[in-house]
Amino acid sequence: MESISTKSKMIRYIAASAFMLISIPLLSQEPIFDGHVHIWEGETSVKTYLEEVESSGGTITKFGGIHMAMQGKLEETKRKNDELIALSKEYPLLPICSVHPFDGEAAMAELERIAGLGVKVIKLHPHKNSMDFDVTDERVTALCKKAGELGVAILMDNASIVPGDCQKLFDLALRCPKTNFIFAHMGGMDFRFWNILPLARTAEGLLGNNIYFDISATLVLMAGSPLEEEFVWTMRNVGMDNILLGSDFPQFTLKQATDALDRLDLTPEEKQKIRYGNAKKLLFPEED
Ligand SMILES: [Zn+2]
Repeated sequence: MESISTKSKMIRYIAASAFMLISIPLLSQEPIFDGHVHIWEGETSVKTYLEEVESSGGTITKFGGIHMAMQGKLEETKRKNDELIALSKEYPLLPICSVHPFDGEAAMAELERIAGLGVKVIKLHPHKNSMDFDVTDERVTALCKKAGELGVAILMDNASIVPGDCQKLFDLALRCPKTNFIFAHMGGMDFRFWNILPLARTAEGLLGNNIYFDISATLVLMAGSPLEEEFVWTMRNVGMDNILLGSDFPQFTLKQATDALDRLDLTPEEKQKIRYGNAKKLLFPEED
């Protein structure tokens, strides 16, 4: 009897060990896309970011490297866009280029040029201390429409620092139904606004499925806060297929973002979508 029970224990032990051997590498290879990494200083920023991810024990499958264009600085814009595209050949970087909406025809031409080079997303940031434009300006609408025609998505800051940020962006998304928008930070502390989406979707023909969010920075603030439950409820209301992970490096690290996401009361499937699946579907569906 004893030998049978020892044998069965042994089998259980072997089975458990085999499971661990299989499951550990699988877990460590779980794909992650960080959609919000500022590349202020070209390759130096890329290396700093990757070193930080590695030193904190993380892995990254792909990350969005961001540039923000300044008005009137056309040569610099081109140079920075080309720099990101070049970096994307050497690193797992998705180039998030930029053009300034107030550069008129030159901006349109640059947008067409980078779209032709395979760029799938550009960054726009209305704040006074970054790109400094009003979202309701018709040049912004024109640029966003053009981006949609070219299959380029818009990553737009939505930290609700400027007055009426969420309202203006919602209106912009309605005006450009063929353009995909990723609203960064999901409204910040005004995230509650976006609970309007499930209601708006019931109005036939009002809204295209073109509003996505990155939850960078806001996610870190919400996890463990008194608003955590409401934040999760909002995420489900805007749609679990519409949310992307981001760190907003160097202000926040990827580890801060993934630790915060782990903490939220979401299913493993929902977390997987946020970590990688949604971004892949939206931004690089053709890649393995
Ligand atoms: Zn940012």
